[in-house]
Amino acid sequence: MHKHCFNKILEWLLGNKDNPFEYTHHAVLLVAVVLYAYAAFLNYYLDVANIYNIYLQAAISLLVLIIWYLSRWKNQFRMMRFVFISVILLVSMPANWIGNGGSDGPTYIMIFGSLIYLSVSFKDLGVYRRIGQCYCILIPIPLIFIEQHYPELIFRYGTETQKQIDLMITFIIIGLFLIFMMESLATRFRLEKAKAEQLSEQLRALSEEDSLTGLYNRRILDKEYSSWKNQGRVFSLALLDLDHFKKLNDQWGHSYGDEVLVIFSALLKDIAIQNEGVAIRLGGEEFVLLLPLSSDITHQKLIQLAKRLSNTPLKHGPVSFSAGVAQDMETEGQYDLLKRADNLMYLAKENGRNLICK
Ligand code: GH3
Ligand code: MG
Ligand code: MG
Repeated sequence: MHKHCFNKILEWLLGNKDNPFEYTHHAVLLVAVVLYAYAAFLNYYLDVANIYNIYLQAAISLLVLIIWYLSRWKNQFRMMRFVFISVILLVSMPANWIGNGGSDGPTYIMIFGSLIYLSVSFKDLGVYRRIGQCYCILIPIPLIFIEQHYPELIFRYGTETQKQIDLMITFIIIGLFLIFMMESLATRFRLEKAKAEQLSEQLRALSEEDSLTGLYNRRILDKEYSSWKNQGRVFSLALLDLDHFKKLNDQWGHSYGDEVLVIFSALLKDIAIQNEGVAIRLGGEEFVLLLPLSSDITHQKLIQLAKRLSNTPLKHGPVSFSAGVAQDMETEGQYDLLKRADNLMYLAKENGRNLICK
């Protein structure tokens, strides 16, 4: 129950796990909100930064909260990611250098953290990511230049102890941020892998399914035949073809033909499930039933099927099928089995249709 509540809150804050990229980025944003607020509070409390830098950190905390809101609730995920990393690099880093001890302060550590964050989490930004990386590496050069030529601009620590405390705390915070970021990256990969597996499973199911009737398609016939043959099972193959289907199509329209195909397929599926077999649409109005039964019993099952089909009320009168049933023989392959069933099916057609030959 608690876990359920916790998951609900996480989903509200971070979005749907089906979108791992957004989910983990929202987590990073919210952690950044807390860290900036915390840094502002700590700097104020310890008196280790220029008051303007403290205001700026508080403002950035608020800004990142707004960024999270727009990203999470206003569908501006892409734009907001860009804004977020820009604020961090272009505003927060230089301001922190000037307002928090210059090259003596913790900004080097923060730039380093940002560089890692940018490098692992913004792979889709292309050339902007490269520019950002160069920026992170080169930004200390102009800042050192400013520090040397305008030393009065830089906020200096009152004591060596203040400096050490600030460096240590920033080091710990950035360290924790990097751990959190790496963990969320790992979470993202795990979620993405799960999603990819789910999609590939759906794709596999779709690739084996006939879209009109929901029966298996020909691909499965080869697979099941090989599997059953390898297991040395007794089984039979029935080839079924609806009678005068072209006439039915011509007379009542293609969509009525489709309706009949769907109804007939449902009956086939029932038989397959009841007998632990497989129902396949070969194409058009031709079907295969693969049943783990002898040809005699399969023949009986098809007679029952024919009865059910003739009893099924159809808009434009009853429909029949012709079928050939062949039992697998140890010495023959799939092609021979199908050929025998096919010949028997044609025999049924020649003998007036609505017939099952074995
Ligand atoms: P027979 O009794 O000899 O089997 O005659 P038939 O008319 O059923 O045989 P034929 O193979 O000549 O005709 C099959 C028809 O099935 C032709 C085609 O228009 C129709 N058909 C094939 N696929 C579909 C489909 O997906 N939907 C519909 N409605 N008709 C289809
Ligand atoms: Mg036909
Ligand atoms: Mg046909």
